Amino acid sequence: MRTPLIAGNWKMNMTVSQAADFTDELLKIKLTDEVEAALCAPFIDLAVLLEKLQDSSVAVGAQNVYFEQAGAYTGEVSAPMLADIGIKYVITGHSERRELFGETDADVNKKSLAVIESGMTPIVCVGETADERSSKMHEQKVRSQVQAALENVGAEAAADLVIAYEPIWAIGTGQSATSDDANEMCAAIRSEIEKLYDKNTADKVRILYGGSVKPATIEDLMSKNDVDGALVGGASLKTADFAALVEGA
Ligand code: PEP
Repeated sequence: MRTPLIAGNWKMNMTVSQAADFTDELLKIKLTDEVEAALCAPFIDLAVLLEKLQDSSVAVGAQNVYFEQAGAYTGEVSAPMLADIGIKYVITGHSERRELFGETDADVNKKSLAVIESGMTPIVCVGETADERSSKMHEQKVRSQVQAALENVGAEAAADLVIAYEPIWAIGTGQSATSDDANEMCAAIRSEIEKLYDKNTADKVRILYGGSVKPATIEDLMSKNDVDGALVGGASLKTADFAALVEGA
């Protein structure tokens, strides 16, 4: 049985005081323990989230990492630094990082390996553009992103991975994939994991859908066999919406 995961991605939103207010509100709400909840926040918010959420079941994640362990990389944050403060998840390969900051499949692989080596779990993002979907290249694109991201990742670590299928055309656009399309792609990702590893590993990996998920759409999404949760941007910025997503999952 895979535990559902709702992971919020705050992107470059939320000052430290806003993050503190958000968590104070969240702590007043009793969340179901059948669903795991995580908040992936800007680096500067991580300390306040970790402190305020330390006695709750909500995990704290980062949105990026550098793949080197330490050294002369001004402005970067390493995986050992994140692990040391108690971070559980790190998003790797988000399409905004690939598109706006030029991250390659090789970077995503190195970052994911660094996260695993430091004992954390990467949330590896993959997804196609609108053009790739309209030319029916979406499955091939996503399968190749999965292969590249998981190069040299052992079967044991692979089973603990979280992969987020996030079609680029659905992110922040209000135009979500249908639950059937989301499920079809999550199933394709699972079959790629089975090809790369084995069925046991594929059955354990959690595969999320991301792209304009809202509280109103989460139940339909979660009714699908291969969708194990959601990576949520916009709708994770309001405490009530985030709590409704966890409840709805
Ligand atoms: C995201 O940031 O990964 C995302 C899916 O954003 P949104 O939910 O706003 O589409």
